[in-house]
Amino acid sequence: MQYEFSIKTSKQQEIIDLTNEVKKIVSQSKIKEGICLIYVPHATCAIIINENYDAGVCEDIISALNKVIPLHAGYKHDKVDNNSAAHIKSAIIGPSETVSIKKGNLQLGAWQGIALTEFDGPRKRKVIVKILKG
Ligand code: ZN
Repeated sequence: MQYEFSIKTSKQQEIIDLTNEVKKIVSQSKIKEGICLIYVPHATCAIIINENYDAGVCEDIISALNKVIPLHAGYKHDKVDNNSAAHIKSAIIGPSETVSIKKGNLQLGAWQGIALTEFDGPRKRKVIVKILKG
């Protein structure tokens, strides 16, 4: 089964928690055992699974990525649409995550959440959630 939803990001770089939306989709699917894929069909954002309790974690992730991949550091693609750092961050983090479903629940750890990482916002982003039984 495949589900899609859109979200609007509001900052150039931010991390937006999707855990509740994905949990709702898993619950509606009525699939008790399987795999949940969360995917973004975009080249300048990504999906992560990490702590969603302390907002400082998200700020640290963005600030650490900015140290490693600074904006406008002489990239070729900046001459085309000025967002090369966003492409590099998206390529490193990746466009998807996969979570096991057991007894109808995502098998996330106590401190784990699923989030979209925006690197070139604000934009409207599409999130695809695919659930496979098994
Ligand atoms: Zn670009």
